[in-house]
Amino acid sequence: MAKTASKTNVQNRALLKAQQSICRFCGQKPEVVRVLTPAGKAQMFRKCCAAAGIAA
Ligand SMILES: [Zn+2]
Repeated sequence: MAKTASKTNVQNRALLKAQQSICRFCGQKPEVVRVLTPAGKAQMFRKCCAAAGIAA
């Protein structure tokens, strides 16, 4: 294992991690909270999309 190869791996992993931590709806850092509807049902609410103006 060459030192340069491991350096590339770290960069690739960092890139992959950055891509995974992007919301597929608004393209920002995902921020999801679980909220209860008035009916008492649990629902996932994306704060990141709300901040981006996608979801109300
Ligand atoms: Zn989002």
